[in-house]
Amino acid sequence: MRTVVVLFTRDLRTTDNPALEAACRHSDRVVPLFVADPALDVPANRRRFLTESLADLRDRLRALGGDLAVRVGDPVEETMRMCRRHEATGVAMTDDHSGYARRRHERLAAACESARIPLRAFPGATVVPPGDVRPTGGGDHYRVFTPYWRAWSSVTWRDVAAEPDRVRLPDGFAGDDPVAVLGHTSPESPRQRTGGETEALRRWDDWVPGSADYADRHDDLAGDRTSRMSAYLHFGCVSARMLAGDDRSPEALVRQLCWRDFFQQVLAAFPRLNRDDYRPRPGDWNDDPDELDAWRHGETGVPIVDAGMRQLLAEGWMHNRARMITASYLTKDLRIDWREGAHWFDRWLIDADVANNYGNWQWMAGTGNDSRPNRKLGMRRQTERFDPGHEYIDRWTGSGPV
Ligand SMILES: Cc1cc2nc3c(=O)[nH]c(=O)nc-3n(C[C@H](O)[C@H](O)[C@H](O)COP(=O)(O)OP(=O)(O)OC[C@H]3O[C@@H](n4cnc5c(N)ncnc54)[C@H](O)[C@@H]3O)c2cc1C
Repeated sequence: MRTVVVLFTRDLRTTDNPALEAACRHSDRVVPLFVADPALDVPANRRRFLTESLADLRDRLRALGGDLAVRVGDPVEETMRMCRRHEATGVAMTDDHSGYARRRHERLAAACESARIPLRAFPGATVVPPGDVRPTGGGDHYRVFTPYWRAWSSVTWRDVAAEPDRVRLPDGFAGDDPVAVLGHTSPESPRQRTGGETEALRRWDDWVPGSADYADRHDDLAGDRTSRMSAYLHFGCVSARMLAGDDRSPEALVRQLCWRDFFQQVLAAFPRLNRDDYRPRPGDWNDDPDELDAWRHGETGVPIVDAGMRQLLAEGWMHNRARMITASYLTKDLRIDWREGAHWFDRWLIDADVANNYGNWQWMAGTGNDSRPNRKLGMRRQTERFDPGHEYIDRWTGSGPV
């Protein structure tokens, strides 16, 4: 009898989950497992979203005849324990690209090898996996977006994996209530959205039919016309491949999903993206704790910056244009180190993602992939262009014109 442990990580979904689909198709029994690693200090907003996403994943697996085991501990030890308990003949998981994910994969591969259990990693975190397209002139990754976009658009994407018809569990398998195992977490941001694949698919189906004006309006701060899929994409509640391949997706959105893959391949090639300058920058950063504190809490006195920072605290999310404005202000006006800003975003954003967060911060700070590293956004001009009626500013600060 073939029994495969499916280790869920950042792929908390049943549709277009190649690891789950292959395990269900090629084995007799499947052991769905999620392990929360206490070594990862997950902030409250994301912990809450994660628990909701796991509860939804469990419901969806149960609807297919399966269930979900949830453990707290070292993912390698817990996976191997599960393998022993159910006499597993294989482990399947989705490939991921952060330094943490790679170390986990290497350790799990070593443990599986000693136990003579094959480990297979499947694509699923990106549309095009890092390394699948490489610059023709040499190098292990693209440093500039436009040639990457051209190459990315011209390769064939993998097929979307169907949701399994049935998830067959081994005898004696007991699932767990994620809230009981991980504990109930109150979000720090009062207006955060609910996690889970079911919610993601519902929101996508609500949003995408009216998305024809996305290209023209995605920068409109008050209009709030973007998909808000980022947290669902971060936790893998929805697959980027599925969204990019949806006939209803506007091309401008597909391009944003390409940005997501772009930063994943940068991170895969430069795992220190969250610590070190991708392109070292001359000069020192200012050390000004008072200015930093005012920026963090939306009290700089610059309304467009304060509005963005207050949206972050209230929702655990910020509009992309506001992220650009607040990041430019911190690094180019206050000249405070991008790491300070990125860590604050990391603490509050539900979608905080090593590749996207640190990649974008470095881009804005001029230490990353921007071919114009001295680019500085003018606060007045940004307000005139993207919040001309001050609706966004008023919504979040209640204050008047800049
Ligand atoms: C300083 C800064 C920090 C950021 N930190 C993060 C982060 O931690 N996590 C994160 O997912 N995004 C981050 N972004 C990118 C972007 O702001 C968010 O992805 C976007 O605002 C999410 O809203 P949405 O889902 O409605 O986006 P949409 O406009 O609907 O875009 C759809 C999807 O495309 C991807 N995407 C869009 N813009 C970008 C981009 N610039 N780079 C990479 N992927 C993109 C996201 O997955 C997004 O969900 C950051 C941007 C900046 C400037």
